[in-house]
Amino acid sequence: MERKDKITELVKSLLPAHERGKNLVIDTCPFCGEKNVMAFSPDKEVAKCFRCGMSVTLLGLVMKVKNCTRQEAEEYINKNL
Ligand SMILES: [Zn+2]
Repeated sequence: MERKDKITELVKSLLPAHERGKNLVIDTCPFCGEKNVMAFSPDKEVAKCFRCGMSVTLLGLVMKVKNCTRQEAEEYINKNL
């Protein structure tokens, strides 16, 4: 499996999301709670919310959703890719 496909699966395992073109649309932004306003790019490995403006890397997204440290998030990503 390609890295970006694995990343797509990883994000979908953390947050309900659906695919739209090359991106994922996350059902609920974990920062502002708004529906269908956060897009995640598996190519760029960044998420951007069009409501609250939050822009985070995959690492930042994992830290927020799992409420964990940077090191724990890195370990989680490495284990799942
Ligand atoms: Zn938001």
